[in-house]
Amino acid sequence: MKGMSHELINFVILFLLIPIFFLFSIQGHNTIYFSFGWVIGTLYLSPDLDADYSRPLNRIGNLKYLFWFTRHRGTLHNPVFWGCLFLILAFLGHAWMGAGLFGAALVHIMADK
Ligand SMILES: [Zn+2]
Repeated sequence: MKGMSHELINFVILFLLIPIFFLFSIQGHNTIYFSFGWVIGTLYLSPDLDADYSRPLNRIGNLKYLFWFTRHRGTLHNPVFWGCLFLILAFLGHAWMGAGLFGAALVHIMADK
């Protein structure tokens, strides 16, 4: 799937999730924190950092060299990687942001299938 479609799908799902969070009385700052993680996970820290010339890879500038070792649809397209990242962030007290990152990555990975 093309990068632009991934971003569109992710943003549509985020806009559907926000009213659901509101319905379940999730506190506003948690919703904002989750959305922040989701947007970062869509535009910057996306599973497509492993693809040459992907949009997120172009956005992160020279940080892209951190991902030189990843092969496309490898580790970064594995939900377990994002689950571990979520657990680490949750351990550090950023569970909502981690959930946003995790959710955005899961939507991306499912859309790739
Ligand atoms: Zn992908």
